[in-house]
Amino acid sequence: MKINEIFYSLQGEGRFAGHAAVFVRLSGCNLACPFCDTQHQDGREMTDDEIIGEIRKYPARHAVITGGEPGLQLTREFVDRLRLDGYFVQVETNGTLPIPPNVDWVTCSPKTLDIVLERVDEIKLLFHDDGHDEERVRLYEPIEARHRSLQPCDHAMTVHDDDECHLRNAATLANCIAFIKAHPAWSLSLQTHKMLGIR
Ligand code: SF4
Repeated sequence: MKINEIFYSLQGEGRFAGHAAVFVRLSGCNLACPFCDTQHQDGREMTDDEIIGEIRKYPARHAVITGGEPGLQLTREFVDRLRLDGYFVQVETNGTLPIPPNVDWVTCSPKTLDIVLERVDEIKLLFHDDGHDEERVRLYEPIEARHRSLQPCDHAMTVHDDDECHLRNAATLANCIAFIKAHPAWSLSLQTHKMLGIR
C-alpha cells in the first residue's frame, strides 16, 4: 500500500478521543474537499510486513487506518493480520468506497450522500455553520450508527486571516453547541489533538 505516514498519538476526535493509537495514513483520496486539512497526497509503497513492523514498534493495540481515503487501498487480508495480532482496527472513511467487513469499527465522516457502506459504527459530520447544517444533518439521519457526532469545521483552510479565523471558529463552536442542545441525538466532537498541540 502507498503510505503517507505512520505515527503514534492519541485519537483526537470522535468516540475514541483520548485513546492511544497507532495511526496509519494511507495516501490518496477519491474526493477533493476544499476544507481538507490533511496532506495525504505524498507517500511511499510499503509491504504489509513493513507496515505491521512499524505499527508493532508502539505499545497501543488500537490501530487507526485513515487517509486520504482508506477504501482505495485497504485489504481484508491486511486487517486480518492486524486483528490476529490483537489489534482493534478502526477505519476512518468518507464512506464512498467499500471497506473490508472485518474491521472492528467504521468511523464515517461523509462529505457526499454517495455512501456505499453496509455498516457504520460512528458517523461524524462536519458542522459547517453555513446556514445549511439543519438540512444536512437531516439527510444523514437515516444512516444507522452507534455513535453520532458533529464536529465544528476548522475554517483555517478557507479563512487565512488569523484573527478572523479565530472569531469564525469560536462562532462555529458556539453555534454547534446550540445545535446539539436542540438535537440531542448528536454529540460534540472536537479536534482535541489540535487544541493540545499534538498530532
Ligand atoms: S474526503 Fe477527507 S481526506 Fe478526502 S479530500 Fe475530503 S476531507 Fe480530505
